[in-house]
Amino acid sequence: MTLSFWQRRDRAPAFECDVAVVGSGLVGASTAFWLRRRRPAWDVALLDAGLLAAGASGRNAGFLLQGASGCYQADRATHGAERARRLLHFTCKNRDLIAAELDGAAFDLRPTGSLTVAGGMEEDRRLRQSAEQLRADGVTAGYLAPTALNERIGGRGFRGGLRVKSGAVLDPCRLVRHVAARSKATVLEHHAVERIVPPGDDRHTALLETPVRPVRARRVALAVNAHLPKLYPALSRFVRPVRAQMLATAPLPRWLTAPVYSHEGFFYLRQSAGGRVLLGGARHLHRAKEVGYATDPTEALQADLEAYLAEYFPHASGAPVTERWAGTMGFSPDGVPCIGAVPRLPGSYWAAGLTGHGMAYGFHLGRCLAARLTGDAPPAGDLFSTDRFDDTS
Ligand SMILES: Cc1cc2nc3c(=O)[nH]c(=O)nc-3n(C[C@H](O)[C@H](O)[C@H](O)COP(=O)(O)OP(=O)(O)OC[C@H]3O[C@@H](n4cnc5c(N)ncnc54)[C@H](O)[C@@H]3O)c2cc1C
Repeated sequence: MTLSFWQRRDRAPAFECDVAVVGSGLVGASTAFWLRRRRPAWDVALLDAGLLAAGASGRNAGFLLQGASGCYQADRATHGAERARRLLHFTCKNRDLIAAELDGAAFDLRPTGSLTVAGGMEEDRRLRQSAEQLRADGVTAGYLAPTALNERIGGRGFRGGLRVKSGAVLDPCRLVRHVAARSKATVLEHHAVERIVPPGDDRHTALLETPVRPVRARRVALAVNAHLPKLYPALSRFVRPVRAQMLATAPLPRWLTAPVYSHEGFFYLRQSAGGRVLLGGARHLHRAKEVGYATDPTEALQADLEAYLAEYFPHASGAPVTERWAGTMGFSPDGVPCIGAVPRLPGSYWAAGLTGHGMAYGFHLGRCLAARLTGDAPPAGDLFSTDRFDDTS
């Protein structure tokens, strides 16, 4: 949106702070939370282009999974055994921190465990292996054979499944609001940052231009997910916008006690406390269209979600659909989040690329970003450094 000469001149006076955290999803709110813990005296502002949790953090399924994806065998094949183990333990720590530091009742945190279930034989083989590998790396997990699995989840046609005891579900929108409130940061909603002017000879602070008012900050944390390249086009090599869609049905009798992640994560469903079925996925059937920033659902993909329900959970099929929506995820090149330095802003950092697993990483990742901003060693060391993409060998 452009502003006229008059509108720009008529903006509110500049807001001054020590740190401006841009983006109030789980990463931004968590960064503000951990900054308060590390530097209680600092003034922190939490800015968002829309309302708190306007982006993916307020639009997701609320699965709190462990590991870089739902399948540990695949994580080990993609990242190598040692890196996969570190990522696994980072996500376990993320869950433990959420349970220990926050009031779970405020965002309906439920320790349900999680189920990754196989749509085919090959996936089943990987999940069976994952159960063993997870146990070897210290995570309580078990394999469920097809009959027991389908009985347990009231499903049809699944080939087997992996149960991880420490998986959980939560209300992601309330989680972000809770974390933001606990951070005691000044929340500036509807403050879309249009550009960031680095400090210069006449100024020690960075200047963040928004349509409402300028914001001046000593340091900046960018937690804008897939929107990062709009502010810094050169960073597009670390994050790209990929859409995901969901639907919610009218309440049904409760039958599903744990979140179900199926077909290599391309479908996922859970039941809310009130019995509503929350179902997402089918992106792989519409890859070319499911990119960008629009939040409108599409008829064709939504029909595929309903077809999935009819095939695998026939008793739930036909329930009236009350909501349909889309959101944008920031995909990194290897599916693992990235943390990097903001160009031309000394002491300022960005975090993005949580791909489809931001709940699994976000609270702990905010802790890493806060450590960068205070000049301390981040708790995860180099796990999320962008240096991993520099090896061109
Ligand atoms: C439909 C769907 C289902 C998903 N399901 C799950 C799940 O069950 N479990 C899981 O772990 N992950 C899931 N994900 C992924 C997860 O939601 C994301 O990885 C996570 O929310 C990313 O958090 P974030 O804080 O990085 O980004 P966001 O939550 O997107 O926050 C970024 C914020 O920055 C703001 N912003 C952008 N540009 C600007 C600007 N210029 N100025 C100011 N503000 C700006 C945006 O408005 C937004 O609020 C899902 C995603 C979607 C879309």
